[in-house]
Parts: sequence; C-alpha cells; structure tokens
Amino acid sequence: VEFEHCGFPETLNYNLKNSGYEVPTPIQMQMIPVGLLGRDIVASADTGSGKTAAFLLPVIMKVLKETETPSALILAPTRELAIQIERQAKELMAGLPNMRTVLLVGGLPLPPQLHRLKQSVKVDTMLKMGFQQQVLDILEDISQDHQTILVSATIPVGIEHLANQLLHNFVRITI
Ligand code: AMP
Repeated sequence: VEFEHCGFPETLNYNLKNSGYEVPTPIQMQMIPVGLLGRDIVASADTGSGKTAAFLLPVIMKVLKETETPSALILAPTRELAIQIERQAKELMAGLPNMRTVLLVGGLPLPPQLHRLKQSVKVDTMLKMGFQQQVLDILEDISQDHQTILVSATIPVGIEHLANQLLHNFVRITI
C-alpha cells in the first residue's frame, strides 16, 4: 500500500508529504485499507509505529463524507497523548474543507471547551479518559451506527473481552 493508492484527496497527500510521511509504516499499511472499508479494528502497535496516523487517516476520510456534527470522537488516556493526537490531526487536515478539531481535557476549565465543541464542531473531539465505565457510557450515548478503532500498545484480556462485546465483527491487527 502506498499513500497515493489510498484514494486520498490531493490536499491530504500534500499534507502527508509535508509532514515527512513518504511511505506508510507497517501498521499504517495494515490499518488504513481496513479502516477505509469502515470496519471496526482492534490493533496493537508500539509507540513510534505510526499508529496515530493509522487511525487518523481513515477517520479523516470518513469525516469528510459526514454531515453530522461532531462525527468523530477520539478518546485518549492522557492529556499529553490527546494533545499529540490533535496536533497530528490538524497537520493532516490542513486545507481540507470544514475540518475542525476540539480538544477536551481534564484539569482545565470545562465551559470554554464545551463552548468550542458547540460552536465549531465538525470533526474530532478528543478527551482525556482513564476509565472503562466512562468509555462504556460514551458508547451508549453515541449513534448505534458507528465505526470503532481501538489502538493500544498492548491489548489486555479484559479489553479483548470488552471489544468482543462492543465492536462489530472487528479486524484484529498486531504488529
Ligand atoms: P506514533 O506511533 O503515532 O506516535 O507516531 C510516531 C511518529 O512517527 C510521529 O512523530 C509521526 O509524525 C511519525 N510518523 C507517522 N507515520 C509516519 C510515516 N508514514 N512516515 C514518517 N513518519 C511517520
């Protein structure tokens, strides 16, 4: 798989080059085509493997086609990770129409964050998360018809069980 063969708009291909992404990493080669098909994914890949772009690229392509707002929700376990993901999302989305991100994190005043979410939403929402129950509550609240991509360095047995319950016929990718 080459980025040029993924059917990305020219702007996105430009952004990839601009960010120094010449060839997809192994996890990207495996996740991007499956993600673009709309399939649920459970993937394990280490830090530095390029896993962020591996899920961001299918998310961006999906969001480009959506009219509902917000149309993608990205949950990350730490604020630092959420900030990194948003930074990469902004880089990849630059110049694409109607793409916005809103970063929601704990430890900072909530009202301005919610205000931005209400105002600008078209795209990604990032959240600092730590707890399984919160993830479950969110999954209950969002529309039935959604694609879920779960990425982690390790997938503990408990999470595998959870994925079996919550995801739909997911593809398991291990690097
Ligand atoms: P991650 O594993 O998502 O934390 O990514 C690690 C680093 O690799 C980040 O700084 C990315 O910007 C970079 N990166 C991701 N994909 C590629 C790629 N295909 N080519 C070059 N660098 C990449």
